[in-house]
Amino acid sequence: PSNVIEADAVIVGAGPVGLFQVFELGLLEIKAHVIDSLPVVGGQCVELYPDKPIYDIPAVPVCTGQELTDNLLKQIEPFEPTFHLNQEVTLVQRRADGRFDLETSLGTKFITKTIFIAAGVGSFQPRTLKVDGIEAFEGSQVFYRVKDPSRFEGRNLVICGGGDSALDWALALAGKAESVILLHRREDFRAAPASVAKMKEMCDNYEMQLIIGQVTGIETKDDKLAEIKVTGADGVTRRLPLDDLLVFFGLSPKLGPIADWGLEIERKQLKVMDTEKFETNVPGIFAVGDINTYPGKKKLILSGFHEAALAAFGAAPYIFPEKKIHMQYTTTSPKLHKILGVE
Ligand code: FAD
Repeated sequence: PSNVIEADAVIVGAGPVGLFQVFELGLLEIKAHVIDSLPVVGGQCVELYPDKPIYDIPAVPVCTGQELTDNLLKQIEPFEPTFHLNQEVTLVQRRADGRFDLETSLGTKFITKTIFIAAGVGSFQPRTLKVDGIEAFEGSQVFYRVKDPSRFEGRNLVICGGGDSALDWALALAGKAESVILLHRREDFRAAPASVAKMKEMCDNYEMQLIIGQVTGIETKDDKLAEIKVTGADGVTRRLPLDDLLVFFGLSPKLGPIADWGLEIERKQLKVMDTEKFETNVPGIFAVGDINTYPGKKKLILSGFHEAALAAFGAAPYIFPEKKIHMQYTTTSPKLHKILGVE
């Protein structure tokens, strides 16, 4: 079928190691597709510590998680990787012709010669609200991410959470929605102080409302979510009518579908067969970065970079069976200069 993307290499995970894998493959003239379940690239560096300084990247005395990611993106620009974000790789299956079928949660399909799993600690998933019966309304009245803000215009919203996502969406939707109630379990917020101040100002102006409490139950009417039950710090449970519930409790990583691809797993990590190629027990599937394990493994970005280099050389014979691959220096190789566009 024509909607299937034929690829030489697909990288699962756009963390620092997945991004550098693009570079190492690029030097060997292998083009890559990169898939991540998050809407942004950078993995843990961007999701968990964008503003924190990192001190142990070789020759970079200090840079933040976001700066490292921006620099990696700049470095891989010449290789024009194709990013497929906001989608989790759900299926990996070997085909009769030796290549792999690979599919994402958005239905993007690939046939690829090699796969590089750079999935870190797993794919980041929104933490869900644990209340009986709530799952039935996921996607119709209960949301863990906002895809189309206009959908909430004129609706009565309750937004749960105390971090930046909850605050940002409460501020953005107040005025557009019919009403906005921010619901947080305590008075402290983990969001930018300016957003918290803005939220309090809007509450003072009756443009939105803040309630301290936790969702402890739901009420339905005509198969719709009609009310939530909110238990306050005083122990009293109150009923709160609403149209939509938006929940931002942060993201937590899950190994997820990777566990079902026939790969050898040891304590939630993919075992690689050797430290020459970082190939898994399935020939053609490589594992690099935090997701892999081998004797002496250290979960550091610099280890992942090294693994990516060797995995690229390890994969090259699957893509160019005829070609002899030589290592060349980027400083002196005219061929690499051409590939990098720096002649
Ligand atoms: P990750 O950064 O975890 O990225 C993996 C990506 O894969 C994620 O974006 C995830 O969404 C995606 N993914 C997973 N499964 C799927 C799937 N099925 N489909 C689609 N996408 C998927 N290291 C250092 O070297 N120096 C430091 O100073 C340092 N400081 C740190 C500080 C903190 C607070 C933390 C938490 C970590 C720190 N680390 C540091 C560790 C470093 O961040 C990791 O080693 C690094 O991020 C690993 O990169 P990665 O690309 O392997 O995986």
